[in-house]
Amino acid sequence: MVPTLFSKIIEGKLPADIVYRDDLVTAFRDINPAAPVHILIVPNKIIPTVNDLTEEDEQLAGRMLLVARKLAEVEGVAESGYRLIINCNRHAGQEIYHLHLHLIGGRPLGPMVLR
Ligand code: 5GP
Repeated sequence: MVPTLFSKIIEGKLPADIVYRDDLVTAFRDINPAAPVHILIVPNKIIPTVNDLTEEDEQLAGRMLLVARKLAEVEGVAESGYRLIINCNRHAGQEIYHLHLHLIGGRPLGPMVLR
């Protein structure tokens, strides 16, 4: 696999504000936050998009969601609310082809999708 921006962050080759790390995922603050809380939860192994997930990634996919839940609590947005987003390919505006779950909160987020 060709290294990605995020795999370089996970390997410590690029700086980032890492807030969580375990055997399957790493979470760090988005460099260009869309809200007061904006964290990216990223698999430690390179998976380009949701389309590339397999049955073998079931535990990883679940872990991403559970880590998001935990971080929402730690960041103090669990009660006020937050949004979890995964962009896939160009219509969704995916920029980095290393799967990541956005945890966004800390203010009212408005409508889910532009109409
Ligand atoms: P996507 O559009 O692929 O779903 O989201 C990519 C996200 O990565 C964007 O929110 C963008 O701000 C963030 N990002 C891009 N480059 C960097 C970086 O070097 N460091 C961090 N922490 N986030 C980045």
